[in-house]
Amino acid sequence: MKSGRMDGPVSNRHVLSLSRTVLDLVYPVLCPGCGNMVRTWARSPICPECWSLIRVLPSWVCHCCGVPMPALKDDPHHLAEEMADLFLCSSCRDIRPWYCLARSAAIYNRTSPVRAAILALKHGRNISCLKPLLALLLEQFPRQMPRIENELVIPVPLHWGRFLGRGFNQSAYLAGMFARSLGLEFRTDVLIRHRNTPPQSGDASARMKNIAGAFKVRKIMRIRERPILLIDDVMTTGSTLNECALILREKGSGPVRVFTVARVTF
Ligand SMILES: [Zn+2]
Ligand SMILES: [Zn+2]
Repeated sequence: MKSGRMDGPVSNRHVLSLSRTVLDLVYPVLCPGCGNMVRTWARSPICPECWSLIRVLPSWVCHCCGVPMPALKDDPHHLAEEMADLFLCSSCRDIRPWYCLARSAAIYNRTSPVRAAILALKHGRNISCLKPLLALLLEQFPRQMPRIENELVIPVPLHWGRFLGRGFNQSAYLAGMFARSLGLEFRTDVLIRHRNTPPQSGDASARMKNIAGAFKVRKIMRIRERPILLIDDVMTTGSTLNECALILREKGSGPVRVFTVARVTF
């Protein structure tokens, strides 16, 4: 007698394929970059075409804050390459940030699929965007940042009022997954946003004024002399990250470095 177990795997595959097709029809997953439908069980909710459009940061960046240095693009003698460590943008030359190094995985602009994925995660709570954004972070981190041992990974915190409203801090999710992947310690309870501020807007000085005094450190012994890696989704002028670095350094942390998924380039 023919056993039902023998043709089971084939039948299971057919059932699985049929249920995936039904799921695609009932719950279509739309790519946040272009709006086209992506297979429900695809590895990434960002379609391959959009993924290929993601632009990573060029190698000519300010040694401190990581802003691309356009003036060095046409450098026939490759002086920039040889002297890269000596280059600081005008802003970092005027006032050196409290963090020692900031880098980002990709460029953030209106048409970037990274922007679409971050917004879908932040406002639509599309957690399927976490995985490809994490992959981007992990891919670019070794390229952009020299590795330092014993770093404590901290996300830029949300004020509790905003956290209750949104129910979600995308930077904390990303930072937690990132730290776990690299075997680094991760904490969300040492850097707190105790003052709710209006969303950042305007130029660098308006942003600095808006965010001043917004953070405080708890459990100071946990950060004392520890090198810190701050993680955020987007870096614009760097005012928020600089304010975080300031309070961490004031309370006795080791050097603070910053790594973000994306960076606005003006
Ligand atoms: Zn797409
Ligand atoms: Zn700079």
